Amino acid sequence: MDPQKTWQAVLGELEVTLSGPNFKTWLKNTSLDDASGEIGRVIVPTAFSKAWLERKLHDDVLDALAKHAPSVKRVEFKVGRVAVAAPIATGAPAPSADGSDSAPVPESSSGPKLTFDNFVVGNSNQLAHAASLAVAKHPGGAYNPLFLYGSAGLGKTHLMKAIGREIELHTDKRALYVTTETFTNDFIAAVSANRTHRFKDQYRKVDVLMLDDVQFMAGKERTQEEFFHTFNAIRDNGGQVIMTSDRPPKAIPTLEDRLQSRLVGGMITDVGPPELETRTAILRTKAKERGYDVPGEVIDYIAKSIQQNVRELEGALIRIVAHAELTRVPLTSDLAEQVLGSIMATQGHRKVSPTQVLEAVSKFYDVSIEDLKGPRRQKEIVKPRQMVMFLMREEASLSYPKIGRELGGRDHTTVIHAVGKIGGQAEANEPLRHELNLIKERLYA
Ligand code: ADP
Ligand code: MG
Repeated sequence: MDPQKTWQAVLGELEVTLSGPNFKTWLKNTSLDDASGEIGRVIVPTAFSKAWLERKLHDDVLDALAKHAPSVKRVEFKVGRVAVAAPIATGAPAPSADGSDSAPVPESSSGPKLTFDNFVVGNSNQLAHAASLAVAKHPGGAYNPLFLYGSAGLGKTHLMKAIGREIELHTDKRALYVTTETFTNDFIAAVSANRTHRFKDQYRKVDVLMLDDVQFMAGKERTQEEFFHTFNAIRDNGGQVIMTSDRPPKAIPTLEDRLQSRLVGGMITDVGPPELETRTAILRTKAKERGYDVPGEVIDYIAKSIQQNVRELEGALIRIVAHAELTRVPLTSDLAEQVLGSIMATQGHRKVSPTQVLEAVSKFYDVSIEDLKGPRRQKEIVKPRQMVMFLMREEASLSYPKIGRELGGRDHTTVIHAVGKIGGQAEANEPLRHELNLIKERLYA
């Protein structure tokens, strides 16, 4: 069998089972050399990714590969030239702290370019899309900074890269796309090598800075400080700053305080999960881009089954098509059901324990579990505690008295009050609903 095709199918599967960042970081730039014998040979770009994949993801890769190449019992990762499709060239390559321009890294081994043309607009992303277009047309204009937030896999990076591409194509401005992780690592490396002037030169002189996933700056005081100065320098030169995050600025501790006055002058908008019609249109677009001929019933089935994440939507499509091709069975909704069934069984309906709820909420709000269970009544603790009660009721299906006991012996009437309160607020209050979704995402991750 053609290793390229097999690997496409394996990646499609891994994209669905692994978390987005894991998949992107470690697997996007890989290819399959050979899987005809007992050993599956996977080519990876660096020694670092080799070590990581061996240590952390060997079994996941093996499981997925063995489904398509049954002879394989073990996976070997080898550093080498990775066979990839044309790289996505949005923005300039990220400058690295040692000053050498790193080779442009292909963003994706398979997917098409991220542009406005292939971004499907629906109610859930209309505003974010319009704001992005406006910024692409007039960087440094009315929407500055632009802050896009929403859960994982809803198109924030897609929009950001589309802006970058548009600006690079139609203006002579310099647009720089970096992940917050890269920005942070560059900064740390620059500080430790005494090269901060160089870092400043590289980041402060761009016309458009796009910083993806700024929630990763939470708690990193010095990086935030540096970003704040970078931000000001770019703005003072008439440049544009664009940020994305999985949560609203308010929910990123301390960054909010620093940027608050700046954000007021800009545009903050959220991207929500797409409704059914949009999901259907996205699937059609993705199928077309990849040259798949997918019957309507299959598109419908996938669009109905996967609701919260466009990346998963796409992953499911790839997986189902690959399955049909590899096993030479017709693409039908029955096949889709069968293939998706195995994903859902492993992902969706796992039961959550009270401890998991406590841990997820504690991490999300940075409040200790003792405080959640304890007597303190400060606002910063009361709300997370009420969220715990709500989630224990809704997601773990505990009784009110049991929830009271889990939280240090509180009365069940207190619990009833809290659950009702959060439930009621969630109806009317979009940011709160969003926080709940993010916590749930973590709970089920
Ligand atoms: P995020 O950055 O919000 O986590 P991404 O921008 O990486 O999400 O999107 C995940 C995947 O879903 C990408 O392949 C992207 O092209 C696709 N996607 C998301 N929203 C849309 C949309 N509205 N139209 C087309 N593709 C989309
Ligand atoms: Mg993203």
